[in-house]
Amino acid sequence: MMYKHPETTAIRAQLHRTQYQEHSTPLFMTSSFVFEDAEEMRASFAEEKKRNIYSRYTNPNCAELVEKMCLLEGAESGTTFSTGMAAIFSTFASLLNEGDHVLSARAIFGNTHTLLTNILPKWNISHTYFDVTAIDQLEGLIHENTKIIYVESPTNPATEIADLARLGAISRKHNLIFIVDNCFATPYIQQPVKFGADLVIHSTTKLLDGQGRTMGGITVGTERLINLVYRFARVTGPALSPYNAWVISKSIETLAVRVDRHCSNALALATRLEKNSKIRSVRYPFLQSHPQYNLAKKQMSQGGNIVTLEIEGGLEVGRRFLDAIQMCSLTANLGDTRTIVSHPASTTHGKLTQEERAAIGISDGLIRISVGLEHIQDIIEDINNALESCAE
Ligand SMILES: *Cc1c(COP(=O)(O)O)cnc(C)c1O
Repeated sequence: MMYKHPETTAIRAQLHRTQYQEHSTPLFMTSSFVFEDAEEMRASFAEEKKRNIYSRYTNPNCAELVEKMCLLEGAESGTTFSTGMAAIFSTFASLLNEGDHVLSARAIFGNTHTLLTNILPKWNISHTYFDVTAIDQLEGLIHENTKIIYVESPTNPATEIADLARLGAISRKHNLIFIVDNCFATPYIQQPVKFGADLVIHSTTKLLDGQGRTMGGITVGTERLINLVYRFARVTGPALSPYNAWVISKSIETLAVRVDRHCSNALALATRLEKNSKIRSVRYPFLQSHPQYNLAKKQMSQGGNIVTLEIEGGLEVGRRFLDAIQMCSLTANLGDTRTIVSHPASTTHGKLTQEERAAIGISDGLIRISVGLEHIQDIIEDINNALESCAE
């Protein structure tokens, strides 16, 4: 059920109580479900009766997560996956046929990039990358076989903003499927469906779990498209564990309070670092100096939790900065309660050439900070101390 405010919906949307009248949703740790008699079993398998049969298909804990995310994203339907990448692969694989073409933003998650460049070509599915900050040229890149427009916004790690309303309008005009990976914003601060997205994908591993425990993925969107994605997934088997679904659904109850603090900490850190003379530049969507500040303000209610800085001195200084960090974690995750710092040029994007990195806004001195929920003063102190010592 939908309440007036998403904070309430995220807490109150839950499965029907069982006969035991539990307050918190129980864990349905079961691989299958029993039938009353032969007729019920027949009708269920024939899909005349909608009910749980087997947890590779559907499970109540996964259904609760889907319902919550549909309400928060304003979507009709959805289906869950074991990881974010399983959601992205299954969505592509279910909608694309041999010979189809994908128009994708060039700044996308590393493994999504590998999927487009190394895996989908096995089935003769091609792609063209475009720059989300130069959408004027986009229509010239649409071919007869183009089927999907795919973007992330804000992008990782350069925090570029894709104009979702314009992309939605272009997709509609050319009858394309518009897909947004909304992982960095969460539905609490940005709802792509409102701007014309047909499907919205999340890695729930990030801010939706928010505490760095489980992995998961979800795709939500129109009933018609989700049905295709679901049919593919129930046969190929990238199902989310009921346990993880239960953890993630519980986590979403606190999404609003967590994201409020993530964003206020991130804005405070970005504002503070902008004044630091050792930093060449700071990027954060809700800083007035961000080149797409107005667009960010138009489609997001807050700036998210990713702050990037560019320090003088390139690769070596970037590595020294990581070594000088005391409190923040050096790890691959993001959107955790704990602040995480990373140096993309020597890690996640180390396999790309310097030119390829430059094209997606990753310079050698770029540091990405996933701002956590610690006290802002402690975060600022750790980053400032590391900046002091790496500059020496
Ligand atoms: C992490 C991430 C993914 C992949 O999700 P996994 O749960 O790690 O498979 C996809 N897109 C974005 C934007 C991500 O940050």
